[in-house]
Amino acid sequence: MTRRDRALMQLAQAETRAENPEVREHIRAAREAIRAVAPTGLQECPACGRVGVPEQIAVHDCDG
Ligand SMILES: [Zn+2]
Repeated sequence: MTRRDRALMQLAQAETRAENPEVREHIRAAREAIRAVAPTGLQECPACGRVGVPEQIAVHDCDG
């Protein structure tokens, strides 16, 4: 996993835990900015926001 992938995953976790809508919006914008610079090939679960390789997302324990 690259540092960029790690950053995206950390941001995804932060977004799911942030309770302030403005904070969530900033996190979401940061993730989009990172992704725009360099696509990762990672997939995001639409239900819980978890980010990982497609094989992981397909089998993850979803809490969304
Ligand atoms: Zn999920």
